[in-house]
Amino acid sequence: MAYNSVINKAIHLLKKVKPAQEEQTPATPTPFLPKGGAFLVRLTPAAEIFVPEMWNEEQKLMADSLQTFIEQEILPILEEIDSQKDPALVPGLLEKAGEMGFLSLAIPEAYGGLDVDFNTNLLFGEVGALGFSFATTIGAQTSIGSLPIVFYGTDEQKARYLPGIATGALKAAYCLTEPGAGSDANSGKTKATLNPAGTHYLLNGQKMWITNGGFADVFIVFAKIEQDKDLSAFIVEKAFGGISPGAEEKKLGIKGSSTVQVFFTDCPVPVGNLLGKRGDGFKMALNILNTGRIKLAAGAVGGCKMAITKSVQYANERQQFGKPIAQFGAIQHKLAEAAARTFAAESATYRIGYYIDQKYNELTQKGISPSEAKLQAIKEFAIECAIMKVHASEVLAYVVDEALQVHGGMGYAVETGIERGYRDARITRIYEGTSEINRMLSVAELFKRAFKNKEIDLSAQLKSIPGHLLKNTLPNALTGGGKFAAEKQLVQNLKDAFLLVGLRAAQKLKMELAEQQEIVLLLADMLAEAFVSESVWLRIEKLYAEPTEKTEDLKLKKQLARIYLYESVNKARRCGEDAINGFAQGAEKTLLLALLHRLLPRYEVNPIQLRRKVADYLNRQNKYAF
Ligand SMILES: Cc1cc2nc3c(=O)[nH]c(=O)nc-3n(C[C@H](O)[C@H](O)[C@H](O)COP(=O)(O)OP(=O)(O)OC[C@H]3O[C@@H](n4cnc5c(N)ncnc54)[C@H](O)[C@@H]3O)c2cc1C
Repeated sequence: MAYNSVINKAIHLLKKVKPAQEEQTPATPTPFLPKGGAFLVRLTPAAEIFVPEMWNEEQKLMADSLQTFIEQEILPILEEIDSQKDPALVPGLLEKAGEMGFLSLAIPEAYGGLDVDFNTNLLFGEVGALGFSFATTIGAQTSIGSLPIVFYGTDEQKARYLPGIATGALKAAYCLTEPGAGSDANSGKTKATLNPAGTHYLLNGQKMWITNGGFADVFIVFAKIEQDKDLSAFIVEKAFGGISPGAEEKKLGIKGSSTVQVFFTDCPVPVGNLLGKRGDGFKMALNILNTGRIKLAAGAVGGCKMAITKSVQYANERQQFGKPIAQFGAIQHKLAEAAARTFAAESATYRIGYYIDQKYNELTQKGISPSEAKLQAIKEFAIECAIMKVHASEVLAYVVDEALQVHGGMGYAVETGIERGYRDARITRIYEGTSEINRMLSVAELFKRAFKNKEIDLSAQLKSIPGHLLKNTLPNALTGGGKFAAEKQLVQNLKDAFLLVGLRAAQKLKMELAEQQEIVLLLADMLAEAFVSESVWLRIEKLYAEPTEKTEDLKLKKQLARIYLYESVNKARRCGEDAINGFAQGAEKTLLLALLHRLLPRYEVNPIQLRRKVADYLNRQNKYAF
């Protein structure tokens, strides 16, 4: 079958998705109103995104102060922290961090906090990752352990708990998971029963994997009141009695962070400590996890940068066969690929953080209270938070694995610290929702917003796909030519490829799609590649439009983006093929595959040469220097 007739047939097939309407004209930039999932259906102008090159002096100073704290207080005693021999050590460090103000970033000023913007919070998450397991400790305190009170607490609850959490005088933990309720968190069995006097709920049950649980003073506990179907949330003080933390879990990594079971036996919680509304606990838990997810992505970026720097330094020092191993192509491949993936993950992470800040501003200007606005703003980007939790944690897994490989036998030895990073990184793919759950969540949430809530019109975008395919004007069809036209077109095609495969799968499998998890996971990866590739190219476009850096630095960043896009297109094509092979048959399969290949052709660059240039720069800088 001639290629064009395949495409023509495919167009007919796709037009059956919706009655044929007038062909869409290419998308044009629309005014900036941050909207979750909308990246798929709009052409984002580079000018509207945040790029890490925009950190101001104040933000850099704050980040530097946290880095200095970690270098002085945490890194010299990592062994001791990990040994957990002194139970007072980590709580004491948390208090020191509190004295420096590091625990108060997300807490409103009225309650002793700094209340900095969301993106600055993410930057702290990135730098905090340098502290290995202490990052988890500080993360539980400043995120899942305290944000439920910030977002849902009454004024009285905030006044009672937040100032102490901000200084570290009160240590916080978040108790959602139970032995029988992990990913299926709403199935928890912990019960809250109102006492006959109606003054207290008596909590009974068992929580598991509770970070900071060994020393926390305040626990956010999710439990079902009486026979309720859904969870409620409570602020529970250790001092209430009836709470016993179990022994510290023996773990693969983050050994210095406290992880215990927590047992509740007739723990009396005053009725005034119900957080939010009865039965709203599960929704609250999910909303809090959105924040945790994107913060985790920022932390993963920090971990990647650290691992790359250590690898570059080792590769420059280590001599084999008469020269530094940094000069071998095999090592250069690892260093450059790790840097490209890190650069892309960073671009996407702070793009979302900034969107959240913009959405927050938009909502507060409409008169919505700051805590409600923050909550709504984060919820708006639940899709992107889930995407980045998976993506960045998997980039970290790749980077630490390659870092260990660059170190050879020394990577396997305790003394270089690489094996600690390798072990510690593994948890990021599990907590705050596993990679599988977050992949499914990103697609499910997108389709819910598109098909059920009618918030995003995905089908309209799909109808425009055949047009630009037929015209076969890949370079300039949507982008209007100009700088990076080929890359911008490929980014657009990554989005269209997701829509092509995703909407066809949804149309064909309907409700059964949710059961076809393998297909959903492949769609999630296509969605992630579209978002991350777009983010990194918007960053490049913006940097070139408003150059503030040396030409060499700009060029290097462009090369990183090219390396990323090369892999991204290959990955998305492969995922699309697998998905189509999974749900389509016969002629339809042939047509869909032909369309997919038309959308995602090979990106014509020389990846080996690009990686060598990047590695050469890394080696000269002797660190991750982007
Ligand atoms: C070190 C550590 C610290 C933690 N800290 C906290 C904390 O502070 N507070 C807290 O509440 N929890 C915490 N957790 C719990 C963590 O969030 C859970 O471990 C995680 O959500 C997964 O639950 P699970 O371990 O029960 O795995 P399971 O839910 O049993 O999952 C096992 C496997 O099955 C997969 N799976 C499950 N359901 C599905 C499905 N529907 N479809 C496809 N695949 C599925 C999962 O992806 C995973 O691969 C922590 C865990 C660890 C290990």
